[in-house]
Amino acid sequence: MRYISTRGQAPALNFEEVLLAGLASDGGLYVPENLPRFSLEEIASWAGLPYHELAFRVMKPFVAGSIADAEFKAILEETYAGFTHSSIAPLRQLDANEWVLELFHGPTLAFKDFALQLLGRLLDHVLAKRGERVVIMGATSGDTGSAAIEGCKRCENVDIFILHPHQRVSEVQRRQMTTLLGDNIHNIAIEGNFDDCQEMVKASFADQGFLKGTPLVAVNSINWARIMAQIVYYFHAALQLGAPARSIAFSVPTGNFGDIFAGYLARNMGLPVSQLVVATNRNDILHRFMSGNRYDKQQLEATLSPSMDIMVSSNFERLLFDLHGRDGLALAELMANFRSSGTLTVADDRWTEARKLFDSLAVNDEETCATIAEVFAATGEVLDPHTAIGVRAARECRRSLATPMVVLGTAHPVKFPEAVEKAGIGATLSLPTHLADLLQREERCTVLPNDLAAVQAFVSRHGKRGQPL
Ligand SMILES: *Cc1c(COP(=O)(O)O)cnc(C)c1O
Repeated sequence: MRYISTRGQAPALNFEEVLLAGLASDGGLYVPENLPRFSLEEIASWAGLPYHELAFRVMKPFVAGSIADAEFKAILEETYAGFTHSSIAPLRQLDANEWVLELFHGPTLAFKDFALQLLGRLLDHVLAKRGERVVIMGATSGDTGSAAIEGCKRCENVDIFILHPHQRVSEVQRRQMTTLLGDNIHNIAIEGNFDDCQEMVKASFADQGFLKGTPLVAVNSINWARIMAQIVYYFHAALQLGAPARSIAFSVPTGNFGDIFAGYLARNMGLPVSQLVVATNRNDILHRFMSGNRYDKQQLEATLSPSMDIMVSSNFERLLFDLHGRDGLALAELMANFRSSGTLTVADDRWTEARKLFDSLAVNDEETCATIAEVFAATGEVLDPHTAIGVRAARECRRSLATPMVVLGTAHPVKFPEAVEKAGIGATLSLPTHLADLLQREERCTVLPNDLAAVQAFVSRHGKRGQPL
């Protein structure tokens, strides 16, 4: 499989290269040159497969030529063995023909484990073969950091540096990162906000001199391997509900458009998906596009669903690329205009094309809490605020009651106690067994000033299993 950039000017890469690449050299994002397409008969034949075997069949074409079948199978089996529910991604029914796909039974209790548990193992496999080491740098407001560290903690050839804003992540989220103590794991608390952290990571990708030649790898959802891993659970859920003999609709709590883009790809690979609902919080740039063909940058607002607090959605460019007939030069121009003007619209026919599949809704904090309360009263289930937004949007945007609607349950509610408390349902949540003693575990974290040079000096002093690069 070859991968091309959405902006048409960067060299095509194979899977192994795309795994290690961040942004393409032309500023674009990598996508498969040709998407695999499965027949309905083939998809039907996968019904009932264990998760890791289904994962092998869905992802095999994407890694073809880079990872041998037997090795890939073994990696996948190990990746999902660490999940605490034997179905890996169970469906729970909320209402007539309405389901939550519980994606929070991985080690850090959010859907990001599906991709990052795999990414860490793929990196180690590829790096061992090449005899190379890399450094990972990432910024987090919570979920990404812990999932990335959990995914990379056993990697022999990876040192991971995760920046979080000092005293601005919840105690559970901080401890999920800082209690993992390997000598290749480095938590840095920056005396600044999340944007400061993200800017430092971006600046480090732009100028990598401080790494003395060690490559820098991205773990946010611009990394193709993350999207790839997320395609699998759309197939898994749909097969359990009667696809491919019938169509399925999905509602996806969305920030950077990574998770829902995976659903779009599943549909283009042959899965009968009749509708995708983009569910956002008040940071609703994607809803503004889907509802009115206006993708424009606005002020960031802090919400009760912090993992979706974004101003622009990095993966949206991957959809725009397809909407523009995969014309990289047209897209480069569009994105350059967006960069300078902060706003983007597409031709009517392209927007209409998108709207055939996508609907959207923006949900505020009050509606989020009301939905948590409503679902709790009706079913006894406690939703996390992100999932609640997905449920609300599913109910408002649903096109057909006869089509099963699957809401992606992106996090365990125990990660977001503030929203659950505000919903006033009186439920007490406890950490799952494997995290029960989290609040007693030893923490390791370095506090650094909001200063790029200080952060880069720290990385170069510790970038080789705690030793200087
Ligand atoms: C990351 C995250 C999201 C948003 O996912 P995207 O791929 O950025 O759209 C939603 N919910 C939770 C709990 C998350 O951690």
